Amino acid sequence: MNEQDLERLKDLLLRQRQEIFDRLQGLESGWEALSERDIEREEEAQKVDLTALYDQLDNLEQQEIEDIDLALKKMAAATYGACEKCRKVMSLKRLEILPATRFCKRCTRKAEGKTRR
Ligand SMILES: [Zn+2]
Repeated sequence: MNEQDLERLKDLLLRQRQEIFDRLQGLESGWEALSERDIEREEEAQKVDLTALYDQLDNLEQQEIEDIDLALKKMAAATYGACEKCRKVMSLKRLEILPATRFCKRCTRKAEGKTRR
């Protein structure tokens, strides 16, 4: 991987990170509007359901941010692009699609097979 590719992937990661924060902010303001409506209508059951949904989204996005930060750290340590499991260097094509991925295609598929069972 040359320096130019690395710069481009770093830009991708930083942009993804920004998008997640933007989305989180959007969710928060959506949540405020929702609470106001719920107080007006007193739809308690619906409110609980939506709270669970928002919590779930938060966790997913936290995970995404963790992966992105990890990828950025690996870039700084010059270990970026290698699969964490088999240590194989991943293709630039895969990294361009999933810049924050930690595992190569084969290891991801293997892990998914195990969890699905
Ligand atoms: Zn692997």
